[in-house]
Amino acid sequence: MGSHEPAQPALQDLENSFDIVQQQCDSCALLLELPESIYEIIRNPMRELQVSIPVKMDNGKIKVFKGFRVQYNDVLGPTKGGIRFHPDETIDTIRALAAWMTWKCSLLELPLGGAKGGVICNPRELSQGELERLSRGYVERIWNFIGPDRDIPAPDVYTNPQIMAWMMDEYSRLAGKNQFGVITGKPLYIGGSIGRNTATARGGIYVIVEAAKTSGMDLQKASLAVQGYGNAGFHLAYLAHDIFGCKIAAVTDQRGGIYNKNGLDPTAVFEHKQKTGSVIDYPAADNITNSELFCLDVDILCPSALENVITKNNAGLIKAKIIAELANGPTTPEADEILFDRNIQVLPDFLCNAGGVTVSYFEMVQNFNMLYWEEAEVFERLRKKMAYAYHSVLNASEKYHVNLRQAAYTVAVQRIADAMIMRGWV
Ligand code: GLU
Repeated sequence: MGSHEPAQPALQDLENSFDIVQQQCDSCALLLELPESIYEIIRNPMRELQVSIPVKMDNGKIKVFKGFRVQYNDVLGPTKGGIRFHPDETIDTIRALAAWMTWKCSLLELPLGGAKGGVICNPRELSQGELERLSRGYVERIWNFIGPDRDIPAPDVYTNPQIMAWMMDEYSRLAGKNQFGVITGKPLYIGGSIGRNTATARGGIYVIVEAAKTSGMDLQKASLAVQGYGNAGFHLAYLAHDIFGCKIAAVTDQRGGIYNKNGLDPTAVFEHKQKTGSVIDYPAADNITNSELFCLDVDILCPSALENVITKNNAGLIKAKIIAELANGPTTPEADEILFDRNIQVLPDFLCNAGGVTVSYFEMVQNFNMLYWEEAEVFERLRKKMAYAYHSVLNASEKYHVNLRQAAYTVAVQRIADAMIMRGWV
């Protein structure tokens, strides 16, 4: 088992998220001096499933959708990760997201591996009935590969508790018995956990609190810009405003954004979005573009939508002192280097947005025990885990003299490597 030095690819602004994952793996393998056998396993997904899902549309015609489920690595336990419904979904994005789930669960010390699923579709163009038939059809195709002790899906981009309820119901129907533990992010009363719906944002807040202490920032005086106003982005803005009185200076969604230097009311903006379909044209604010949001003079910037939005083209223009990545994969490796040189604290995705899967894990524990926790217990357990993970990453960044993302990789991958050795995989 000789030590392996993978060739370090020239750092470039990669667009393909899975290429980015492999590049990040390469750097981590060098830092940890990982044996080749371990390294070869962790840079590839363990299992991939591609399915075609015929769905009867409201007009009576059959439309076939393409879906994926990638189970990346299960050395630490059954695989876990969300399902995205998105028109631009690709197998490579799902691979990358499944890898990040693997590191995320390891970093948070959850007894779980990583997975991700996706269906190429535009949920905005589907009726409720079509969405339900698609959700059930997807489960019908993958149900043999998932299960409470195998692989446990959850919500992600454009999927929600209602979709999780249909999926859990379909799996239970096929299994011939109630199987609440097969999916997390379910509504309350059918096995959901208190706090799951806001958990990604709340977990991010707990990490921001620790990061603010490290950089001496007073959160009560801090201003935020939030890119993406879905479940994570809205709740982050709402909680930051509500708990700390932070000023929410700007928010955007896929159509554009709004800015008010004196601060926005996150709930009123959300209601405006519900009514009009977008945050733009909110009264008492100026419209801005998504690119403008990244360059605003704010203390904290929160990318909360999709991948690859902070690149070498805008990393030099960012004025925020902390970037809290609620989205998965928002920053390219080249942008990471620029931000590190500029002394901007980037709270990496698989740390900062790990609150969602952490409360998903709590949901699984509650399902297995048929005993449900109160809100205060969920929040306190989450706070402890997030703060502990942040400090292990900070310590690793000091030990290896690397940025927080590389540090998070070392902590997460080292645990996975140790587990592979203990299980005799290598
Ligand atoms: N989709 C969320 C994530 O990317 C949550 C996954 C889960 O709860 O399993 O972390």
